[in-house]
Amino acid sequence: MGLLNLLYPSKCPSCGSASDVFYHSPICASCWSKIKRYSGLSCRICAMPFSSEYAEICLQCLKKAPPFSKAINYGLYEGALAEAINHLKFHGLKRLAKPLGRLLLSFDLSIVDGAVPVPLSIKRLRERGFNQSLLIARVIAKKIGIPLLMDILLKKKETPPQIGLSAKERLSNLKNAFEVKGDIRGLRLLLVDDVMTTGATVTECSKELLKAGAKEVIVLTLARSSMM
Ligand SMILES: [Zn+2]
Ligand SMILES: [Zn+2]
Repeated sequence: MGLLNLLYPSKCPSCGSASDVFYHSPICASCWSKIKRYSGLSCRICAMPFSSEYAEICLQCLKKAPPFSKAINYGLYEGALAEAINHLKFHGLKRLAKPLGRLLLSFDLSIVDGAVPVPLSIKRLRERGFNQSLLIARVIAKKIGIPLLMDILLKKKETPPQIGLSAKERLSNLKNAFEVKGDIRGLRLLLVDDVMTTGATVTECSKELLKAGAKEVIVLTLARSSMM
């Protein structure tokens, strides 16, 4: 504990106490153990949490079914899960990809043929130095023994951040932003991202993957966020 704090003198961003487990530090053991799989009601297709007990599918999906066959989000984007994702993404704590990725192994993903990370544009990749979705997808692919298809889906267009945009604006912002390189005909793909908000990004990515001949796209993300 003392040595750990000497090497990683950090406080848990969730509760302020000392980080006590290197594996998922700076999140402390107590906060990490509170990261729970979302178990409330949600749309059977897009996983949007909702409050009606009488519907299985949200209004959005009823109006227009998304191109992916279903979305799976581990938890809600809040508390220690949100802190861990932000530390991975914005503070460059790449080692957090492993404990975060492992959370996703609790789902049955045996039917997929490969994992595809949601790509970053070249500019964003240069700024950040890594793609957090790729790091998470790598953990999953390795653990369940499927290929990591890392150069199949590319983001060819630099787009402004989605924050502050409406669901509709998000979709048009990303129009024609992605392209597929390589042969994915007939494959069932797991599309991996860190956070899903309106689903605009995974919708656009799924469209391209299906256009290129993928048989099915299942979306897997760590967290579901409400609009931000
Ligand atoms: Zn804590
Ligand atoms: Zn839905």
